[in-house]
Formats: sequence, structure tokens, C-alpha cells
Amino acid sequence: MKKVLILALVVLMTVSVFAGCTKTETQTNNDTPKNEDVVTTDVLVIGGGGAGLVSAITAAENGANVILVEKMPMLGGNTMISATGITASDTKIHEAAGITFTVQDHIDRTMKEGKDLPNLELVTILAENSNAGIEWLTSLGLEYKMHATEEWTLVPVEGHFGSLMISAYKKEAEKYSNLEIRLNTKGTELIVEDGKVVGAIVEDKNGAYTIKANAVILATGGLGNAPDVIAEYNPKYAGGTGTMSTAGATGDGLKMATAIGAGVVDMEHHMMRPLATPGYWIRETVVSDENIGGILVNKSAVRFTNETAHRWDMVPEVAKQEGGVAYVIFDADVAETGNGKAAVDKAKMISADTIEELATKLGLDPAALVATVEAYNNGEDEFGRKTMGKVTTAPFYGVEAEVASHFTMGGLAFNKNTEILDTDGNPIPGLYGVGEVLGGLYGAGRVYGNDTMGNVVFGKIAGKNAAGK
Ligand code: ADP
Repeated sequence: MKKVLILALVVLMTVSVFAGCTKTETQTNNDTPKNEDVVTTDVLVIGGGGAGLVSAITAAENGANVILVEKMPMLGGNTMISATGITASDTKIHEAAGITFTVQDHIDRTMKEGKDLPNLELVTILAENSNAGIEWLTSLGLEYKMHATEEWTLVPVEGHFGSLMISAYKKEAEKYSNLEIRLNTKGTELIVEDGKVVGAIVEDKNGAYTIKANAVILATGGLGNAPDVIAEYNPKYAGGTGTMSTAGATGDGLKMATAIGAGVVDMEHHMMRPLATPGYWIRETVVSDENIGGILVNKSAVRFTNETAHRWDMVPEVAKQEGGVAYVIFDADVAETGNGKAAVDKAKMISADTIEELATKLGLDPAALVATVEAYNNGEDEFGRKTMGKVTTAPFYGVEAEVASHFTMGGLAFNKNTEILDTDGNPIPGLYGVGEVLGGLYGAGRVYGNDTMGNVVFGKIAGKNAAGK
């Protein structure tokens, strides 16, 4: 299933990105000199998602010669597929809508969601600079409005959030002749001389070469596509191999930086979803809703968990079932709710007029599924489910789902200057970081949209500092 999911995402990215290939990228692809042994620049940015692009633009704007390397054939990363929106406080958009969401509200919400684990100093920088972030994005031609129900989230007036953002960054990057983008070029190792990071080894189709730089900015994103690394830090998630992530998120930056002594924070708080299908994750309410919620069964067509548990507790339960999969089963009443309808449509759920028929279509034992559903409808439960639902009204719906990585909340330790810190908390000279590669902003829970805002706020700080301004 993982491969299907990635394919779906790559197709989505390819369609959107190739529609707007920048001049810089095209030139770079065709004209890259055949592997000089050593290339020298002022600032090397590794990773071309939102964080890398904002950092590179800012460093270039501050007069530095910049090379950005991106290992994929296209820019965008997970930022590109981000659909949620951006978080900001005290903006003109709030004011125009008559909505109060102050900088302090922003800080409080972020700390609460993260169970007070986020770094307050860094969260404060994020919130205090979020309005300026929105002003900058607006200056790039992006237009936002308030989210219908969440006072902290801004969404595009029209169109897909992430692809609009990446298109705007690419267009801005094109303005700078001192910013060069090298696609299909992977950072593999940081070079350290006398305790300072002075560049990196990179690799393209012609082989490896060195890029020397006064400063390196790591913007390689998270661990979404590195289930082995997720499980290394979170043994409870072992077995869960799905991902909501693009192919490039394999933890390269984390590995490169920890290899030279960088510290990490909050790695045990990786954000997972228990019920993912290719390109979509099913909201857990379809099985947890009081009175109507459905059930989860495994390949033996038996229930294995309390479906009303927090999704993070449900994740390891799903991961340890045979094949790492669960079947989401509910009835017509759930299908009429918002989340139920979305699941039916977007998760391409199978429907049937009887439970036997549904079981057959899902490849489950019909008699076993009938027995499980009957027991559930009779209120029988051995998993401590306090509020029961029911699966009684035809048509019935079902789909195979698996655990998937959604967002990497932990990562490299950094400070207010976006310097990466070593395991003793001291800045590693010459090394900066931005984006999902970092830890410290989320603790045990993420406010959606703080990530794309973090790319802007900390990308600007990193770009400026790396340029020596
Ligand atoms: P962020 O939001 O932090 O920018 P993204 O996922 O949007 O995260 O972007 C990270 C980008 O970094 C992706 O485009 C990914 O392909 C790229 N990347 C990851 N590892 C490397 C690497 N070793 N070398 C170059 N680019 C990389």
C-alpha cells in the first residue's frame, strides 16, 4: 500500500510542479558543469521544500551567493502537498474578519497542543513574527482568508495551499541571479574543519563532489518516508510502514547532523495516523462516534482495540496486526456524517448491502465478520470501549487501512538564531537548520500551519544569519 500512496503523491507533485518549472531549474538541469571537484559558494542550502526555498531566497536577498541542492527532480517536498493552511496571529485578515487571535493566543495554543513541551522562546519568535510572515507571503502574490472554523488558520482565497506556496517561492527565487538551484543533487555528508561546518559532499548522476560554503542550512524535511528511523526513536510504531509524505523525506538531514554531534529533541513524539489509505487518512470519528460509530477489525475479522481511544494509542494497536492493517467498517448512518462521507469518497470505501457481502469483497471471512458485528451491536466489548456505536443500517462500508506517518514533530535541536545545537546545547559553527528537520516547536502535538509559518519565520532568520547579516 505504501508504494501506491507514494505514487499517488508523486503524480500529484509532478503534475503541479512541472506545470511551473522555473528558469533557474531548467538552466540548472541542462547547464550544470560536469562535476567540478570543489564548488565554492557563500551559503549552501540542502533541501528545496518550503524551508529551503525561504532560506535560500533570504540569503540571496542579503547578498550572499547561494546554491540550493534538492535531491528530487523537482522542488516542493511535503510543503507542496500541504493542504491545511497556515497559522498566524493578529493579522489584517483577522482584523477584517473581526476575529481575535492574538500573539499570546497563538503562543498559548501552541504550548497547550504540545503539552507544554515546545520551546517557549522559539514558539514566541514564531508567533511574534507570524504577522510579518503573512505580509511577506502576501507581497509574493499569495492571498489568504480565514479558515471557516479555526481562528488561527488562514487558507488560500482560492486553490491548493501548498502548491500555490511553492509556485510563489519558485517565482521569487528566479529573481536572484546569485541563487542557483541544483536538482537531482543529494547532500550526503557535512564537512567539518576545526569544529566548523564548511560545506557538504553532494551527489548527482555523475557522482560525488564537494560544495564548500561559509554556512550550510539543512532544510531536508522530516522522517515521513523513513519508517525505520521513526521506529528507532518510537519502537511502539514499528511495523507501521505507510506514509502521507513525499518520497524525499527520509531523514537525511537528521542523519547528517547527528553524525557530526548534533542533538535532537522530542523524537518520541512523532505524529502518526492510524487509519491511512492511499492519499487520504480517515478521521477516527467514523469508528468512535457515540451511538453510530463503526468498528476496526483485523485480517481475522475480529475487533482488536478500543476504537474510541486517542488516535496515538490506536496507532501501535493497528501496527501490530497481521500485515500492519486494519479494516474500517461502518454503516449508512456514519456515511451520512461529514467525516463518513469524506471517508467513503476519498478512501474509496467498498460498499455492500450485507455484512457477508462486504466481508467477501474485502477478502475477510464472512461468518467471522458477521459474528463480530453482531457481538458489537449487542454491546459486547472486551477492550474498555465506554461508548458503543452500531453497524446496523445498510449499505455497509469497509476499507483496508494502515498506520501512516503524518508529521515529524521532533528533530534537530536549534536556537533563536536557527543554529543547530550539539548534544551539550552549544551551537555548531556554520550549521543552520529550518523546517521539519528541526525539533522544538511542537513537543507532543502540532498546531496545524505552524510548520509552514515556521518555514517562513525561521527561514528568514537562517537565510540572514547564514549570509552573515
Ligand atoms: P520543509 O517543510 O522542512 O521544507 P519539505 O518536505 O517541504 O520540508 O522539503 C524538504 C525537501 O528536502 C524535500 O524536497 C526533499 O526531497 C529534500 N531533501 C531531503 N533530503 C535531501 C538531501 N539529502 N539532499 C537534498 N535534498 C534533500
